[in-house]
Amino acid sequence: MTVRDVLNKKKRYIAILLYFSFAIFLLGFLFSVIFPAFAVIGFWGFGIFFVTLGYAYFGIRCPVCRGIWGILAMRSGTPFSISRKLKFCPYCGVDLDSQDERMLLNRTG
Ligand SMILES: [Zn+2]
Repeated sequence: MTVRDVLNKKKRYIAILLYFSFAIFLLGFLFSVIFPAFAVIGFWGFGIFFVTLGYAYFGIRCPVCRGIWGILAMRSGTPFSISRKLKFCPYCGVDLDSQDERMLLNRTG
């Protein structure tokens, strides 16, 4: 697994959670027009969305140096992967397409 694979995996997971919670938020409030109890579900979707957004900013880190990729990872590339134009980590300079052994030392799980 390369450094890019690790970042893509995390971004994909976060993107799915973001879309899913936003859909819950929208549907919850749409249905609350007819069934007021659905507003609770809408609030949950809203809450999960913002918690996930916070995680996206601080949780997407370089697996080698733990540098915070957050905005850089989320704004570039497709919704499910980081941009192909990004070749190196801006913090430690590791090649994203390499399998750096320091990555394994910092792995948290
Ligand atoms: Zn790095």
